[in-house]
Amino acid sequence: MAKIIHLLDNDTINKIAAGEVIENPKSIVKELVENSIDAGSDEIIIEIKNGGKNLIRITDNGKGIDRGEIEDAFKRHCTSKIQTSDDLNSLFTLGFRGEALASIAAVSQIEVISRTIDEQYGVKLVIKGGEVTLKEDIGCPVGTTISVTELFYNVPARKKFLKSDASESSHINEIVSSLALSKKNISFKYINNNNIAFKTPKTNNFINTISSLYDKDLYDSLLSVNYQSNLISIQGYTSNLNYYRGNRKNQLVFVNGRYIKHKRINYYIEAAYYTLLPKNKYPACFLKLEINPTLVDVNVHPAKTEVRFQNEELILNEVKNAIYKSLRTNNIIKEVKKET
Ligand code: ADP
Ligand code: MG
Repeated sequence: MAKIIHLLDNDTINKIAAGEVIENPKSIVKELVENSIDAGSDEIIIEIKNGGKNLIRITDNGKGIDRGEIEDAFKRHCTSKIQTSDDLNSLFTLGFRGEALASIAAVSQIEVISRTIDEQYGVKLVIKGGEVTLKEDIGCPVGTTISVTELFYNVPARKKFLKSDASESSHINEIVSSLALSKKNISFKYINNNNIAFKTPKTNNFINTISSLYDKDLYDSLLSVNYQSNLISIQGYTSNLNYYRGNRKNQLVFVNGRYIKHKRINYYIEAAYYTLLPKNKYPACFLKLEINPTLVDVNVHPAKTEVRFQNEELILNEVKNAIYKSLRTNNIIKEVKKET
C-alpha cells in the first residue's frame, strides 16, 4: 500500500509555524523590537505604513548580526539566546524560540541590513517567502535594520483577515508603548505614516515614559506602588479614584521586564479597589513585577505574552496587597483592614 504519512517540506512547516507566531503586523513589530532589545540597543526606531501592511521597519543600534551567520538567523530554531532546555528555567532575554525571523520571512519579503562592531562594512540580505534573493556588502552603521514588506503575499487567507489600517496601527501602538515602558534606558521613536507618533527619552524612567505616552488626566491620577516581600517586588503606579475607563487597556503588567497578559492579575488589581469605582469601570495601572525567573514559565504560547506562575495564588494576592497598600498610604482606603 502507498505510504500516506510523510514529513512536510520546510516551506510548509514554516508557514504553519508562522500562523502561530505572526498573526498580524503587531506581532511582527513585537518580535522585531524584542530582538532589538535583546541585541543591547539603546535606540530603536519603529516605522510603519498603512497599519504595517505596506511597511514595517525597525532600526536599532544593537550589536548587529555577523555576515557569516545572517542566513542562520532566518532558520527555524536557530537562536543565539539559549543553549539547552535548562536555560528555559532562567530566561534573561525576551526571545528564545528561534522562530520569529524564520516565520516572518516565510510570509513576506524581508530586507535586513546589519553590521557588527568587528566589521568594516555591513551586509544586506533580502529574503522572500523564505528564499534568499540577494546578499551583498553595504556601508552602514553598527546595528540592524529590518524592513518587512509584502506581508502575507503568499497567505491570502491571512491577508484577507487583516483589519483596517487604523485598527492595525492602534494594536501596534499598544505593543510599542508596552515595549517602551518595559525597558529603561532605551529610546523608542515610533513613526506612523511619516509622522512621529512618539519618542521616549533615552535616560527615561518609568514615570517619564508613561507621561510621554499617555494623557495628562491619566498621568495626574497616578499613585506610586512600592511593595516588597520575600517572594516578589512590585513597583509602579496605579490610578486614584479620579480616573477610570470602561476597558482595561490602561492596565499594563510586566514580569521581569516582559509585557504580559494575565486576566487574573487584572482581576486582583481591581479587587483592591473593592467597591470604590463604579461598576464596569477599571483603574489604570502600570506594574513591574520582579520575581525569581525559575518561578515563571513563559514558554506557554509562541507569542510569549502568556505566563504561568508557580504559587499563582500567592503572587496574585501580593499584587492585590501592593495596590491596596498604595491606596491606603494615599488615604483612599481609610480603614486598615485586619490582615488575616
Ligand atoms: P530568537 O529571538 O528567539 O533567538 P529570532 O528568530 O527572533 O529568534 O532571531 C534569531 C536570531 O537572530 C537571534 O537569536 C539573534 O542572534 C539574531 N538577531 C535577530 N534580530 C537581531 C537584531 N536586531 N540584532 C542582533 N541580532 C539579531
Ligand atoms: Mg526573537
